[in-house]
This record gives sequence, C-alpha cells and structure tokens, in this order.
Amino acid sequence: MKLSLSNGIFSKLGIQDNFNTAKKLGFSNIEFNMKSIKKEHDTDVYREQKALVDSGLNCLTLHSAVLHVKDSIEVHQAVYYGKISLECARALHAPLMTVHSNVSKKLQKNVRDECLAEVFGQIKPFAKKLGIKLSLENLSFNSTGFGKNVEQLEEVLDVIDPEGEIGITFDLCHALETKVVDELLDNYGRRVCNVHMANKFHQPFTKKKLELTHFLSVLHEYGYGGPITLELEHKTSMEDIAKTKAFFDKLLKEYQT
Ligand SMILES: [Zn+2]
Repeated sequence: MKLSLSNGIFSKLGIQDNFNTAKKLGFSNIEFNMKSIKKEHDTDVYREQKALVDSGLNCLTLHSAVLHVKDSIEVHQAVYYGKISLECARALHAPLMTVHSNVSKKLQKNVRDECLAEVFGQIKPFAKKLGIKLSLENLSFNSTGFGKNVEQLEEVLDVIDPEGEIGITFDLCHALETKVVDELLDNYGRRVCNVHMANKFHQPFTKKKLELTHFLSVLHEYGYGGPITLELEHKTSMEDIAKTKAFFDKLLKEYQT
C-alpha cells in the first residue's frame, strides 16, 4: 500500500506552495483534488503540470470536480467538470480519477437514473480515450450526493457500468460515519483501487484503532496494494499531519506482501 496525501487540504494555497508543503511534510505521492484549482473554468492544466514536475511529487490519483445534479438542466455542467478534471489527470499523469455519482440524493429514481446515464455516457468514453480509470467513491450519509451504501452504489453501477470496469474509491471516513464499512468491504473489497483515509469527520488517525486495523487487514487479504490517501479536515495542523504521516509510514509496513 502506498501512502499519499490529498492536496485538497492546502487548497487555499497557490499551486506551487500547495505542492511544496506536501513535499516539506515528506510525502512523495499525492492525490490532486480539483478544489486546488481556484476556478473550475480555469483550464490552464499546464501550470499544474509544470508545478508538479518542479516539485518531484507523483500524482497517483486525481479527485474530480463534482456537481451533484439536482435538475437535469445541470447535466452539461457536471459533464464539463468531469471532462476538465480528466484533462488535468492526463496532464499530471494520474492513471486513476475518483468520481462521485454526480447526482443529488433528492432526485426521483427515474430522473436520477436518466441523469446518471447522461453524465457517465459522456465522461466514460472520454476517460477511456485518455486511458484513465474511473473510481466511484462512497459518500457519507450527510452528503448531498447519492451513493452512500451498497444498495445505492449498486443502483449507480447498474446504470453507469454494466461492464464492471469502474473501480471503487473506499472512503473510510464516510463508511464509518454511515456505518457501512463491512458491507462495502464484503461487496467491493476486490474492486477497491483507491482509499480515502480518515477517521469520522475527516479527523486523522494517529493511533492504532480496531476499526482501522480491521479495515486494513481485510483490504490486505483482498490483495490491495494501491494508494492510502490521507484526506484530512482543512483545519488539521501541520504538526498533526506530520504525526499522521509518521504513524502510517510505520503502520503500512505491517501490510506489505
Ligand atoms: Zn473522500
């Protein structure tokens, strides 16, 4: 398993400071969160590309800009966010992009399924063309988006991915908040290709907790060797990020094959 840091935590910094801060903390891998680009319509992905090369960091994954569509009129915007995020993933050589369902949980099932089909009907072939794998994230019960548990994720995947090509980004924080860790592991353990790592409310783990070691052990049994992406709350201090990194550097050694 490879430790990585979501750079969304430094989204208030300019892109160079953002990468440099991750570097100073000793990370070699990041997940690029599109929140780090000030405006979604800012399409200068080459500035990010240059800053990444200068930093020497590896971008293992990219978190798409997301719109939880509340009305079918918003489909075009959600498609645009997805496509511009894919362009950025390509510029940063990220092989994997984490996506949400992009639909609001308030939509009626028939409208929801129509919107899902339209959004992913456009994002999926574009991702394929660029050679970037998509990975669907489980959301928290308090998210405005649809897709918090197996029942909801199955509905989404049935519409957008009958071929079973899309991976799963397992957000442990969301799963703990929603109390669905085991059902997600049972159903998607083999399909996980990215992990968003945090305790409830995106607080850092800095000590061994049963829910953490249980989660990592099960993933390990499934043969998982992908990113463990620290996705921490904005106010987490530099000291706590450093502490979390040191803790995971040591802990992940226990799960080497
Ligand atoms: Zn997440």
